[in-house]
Amino acid sequence: MSLPIVPERPDDEAWDVVVVGAGMGGGTLGFALAQRGFRVLFLERGLYLFGDHDRGTGSLDSTPEDPDGRMRRGYWPHPIKGRSSFGPVEFFGPFGAGTGGSSSVYAAQLERMRPADFEPRRHHPTATDSTLPEHWPISYDELLPYYRRAETLYDVCGTDDPLQPDPEAPVRPPPPMSERDAFVFDALRASDLNPYRAHVGSRFVPGCVGCGGALCPKSCKADSGRVCVVPAVTSHGARILPSCEVLRIEATASRAERVVCRVQGREISVTGKVIVLAAGALMTPTLLLRSQSSIWPDGLANRSGRVGRNLMMHTSDQLAIRPSKTLPAEGPQKAISLNDFYLRNGRKLGNLQSMGVPVSAGVISEYLKQRAQKDPKWYLQMGRLGRKVASTVGAAIFGQSVVMASIVEDLPYHENRVVLDASSPNGMRFEYTYPAELRERNQLFRDELQKAVSKHLTALTLSGENNLNFGHVCGTCRAGEDPTTSVVDRDGRCHELENLFIADSSYFPSAGGINPSLTIAANALRIADRIASSLA
Ligand SMILES: Cc1cc2nc3c(=O)[nH]c(=O)nc-3n(C[C@H](O)[C@H](O)[C@H](O)COP(=O)(O)OP(=O)(O)OC[C@H]3O[C@@H](n4cnc5c(N)ncnc54)[C@H](O)[C@@H]3O)c2cc1C
Repeated sequence: MSLPIVPERPDDEAWDVVVVGAGMGGGTLGFALAQRGFRVLFLERGLYLFGDHDRGTGSLDSTPEDPDGRMRRGYWPHPIKGRSSFGPVEFFGPFGAGTGGSSSVYAAQLERMRPADFEPRRHHPTATDSTLPEHWPISYDELLPYYRRAETLYDVCGTDDPLQPDPEAPVRPPPPMSERDAFVFDALRASDLNPYRAHVGSRFVPGCVGCGGALCPKSCKADSGRVCVVPAVTSHGARILPSCEVLRIEATASRAERVVCRVQGREISVTGKVIVLAAGALMTPTLLLRSQSSIWPDGLANRSGRVGRNLMMHTSDQLAIRPSKTLPAEGPQKAISLNDFYLRNGRKLGNLQSMGVPVSAGVISEYLKQRAQKDPKWYLQMGRLGRKVASTVGAAIFGQSVVMASIVEDLPYHENRVVLDASSPNGMRFEYTYPAELRERNQLFRDELQKAVSKHLTALTLSGENNLNFGHVCGTCRAGEDPTTSVVDRDGRCHELENLFIADSSYFPSAGGINPSLTIAANALRIADRIASSLA
């Protein structure tokens, strides 16, 4: 590639900030620092997905399984290996690679966490075996100005959540809902619930299909590639090395010195005054664990033994909500969101939202294939004919439904984690035990929802027992005040290293019950401010 934004000799240049991973956290942070005039270099495993790159049609269809084909579509190249309570798996997870990281294929629902999320222990008093902290090292109020900045940056549209209004939120009015969604919205209100228009990062240009699960071809969806990385490299002097796999970080006892990476088959080292890891909650801890040395025998920044631990996701049921009549469904796909079940009778559950994907036989078939990788036994039991019938009949029955998804908070546990595994193409695997208290809260959510809506709507749960949402991994380098129980401090700086920061979802001390990306972006803007002050 001979893009002018790719430096010819990155190893000879003096960078202020080297950012590993150009996704939601890394892209946002790198942009904020480049805008202030710092020399920023992004190191990104995937491709530069802009310029003359073919970004497809924006529709969810089969992602090729060869590594190069996957990366052209913005997806992580290799299957993820792991073991959960449902058995061993090796599957193509919902992770992105390339400019924008996972956000380039996300559905762009950009919601804030709630103040209660920053004091997580208070709402799970009985989960005594979880490592849930009393509070985050930062408060909701401290993050609030950064939430507002992130909402402006990411073009967020929507309406105020009646249960957490913010009159100063810079959220733009959304386009009109489809008649079908408006009917469901009114029925939810009639059920004494408080729906609002989902907060979505999008310009909603004519012909917008939402692009959930796919690259957006129209400069419409606000992913961190389009919104941050491209302007950083084209207008603010930042540079990027795409197709660059970071292998490890070399460090003294107090400073990260070099980032060692492989570019076009060649190993090179780059140095920066500050190094920021933002490779996502699976790969950031992997890089630290891989960076063992005589000074760091258990992995870099891992004197606490917490690197890779406390892996959290969310659980998500898919629910078909069926209106009592057939109505036109043309309109934005992600239209409805509600938080009535976030805290229900003193229990913390989570959000309910439109999935953002229109139901067709193709989409159901793709959904079944993806589920099969996560849960092969279930897929085989269905048989080929069963799957074909399910796709066709499902599309006929559910084509009229609003497919909604729950997002239930998963709690951190010491043994749920990422570990090194040389037999996996990513050099890691995950280990995850599905806790009984999570199963119970999922059932409570289903019961409470049925109870609330049954007078006005039919709600059918489509997902099975294994409802882990791997797209929302977080928590594997948790932030905290105590260096013996956390990896980074309130500003994302590794406790033991003066110039090594973490700015992705690994930071999260708890998962909340809502989509993670706006919090990742707001926190990355906050960490960028701290780095800027330290470099000034
Ligand atoms: C289909 C889908 C739909 C989603 N919908 C939503 C939604 O509506 N709302 C929401 O809030 N969230 C959504 N998410 C989740 C969201 O995209 C992620 O939570 C978020 O992008 C994570 O940000 P991050 O910075 O932690 O990591 P990422 O955005 O994943 O960025 C990590 C980057 O690091 C790079 N990298 C990794 N290892 C290396 C290495 N060794 N060397 C160099 N580079 C490396 C990766 O290629 C990637 O670009 C969705 C995710 C998916 C997949």
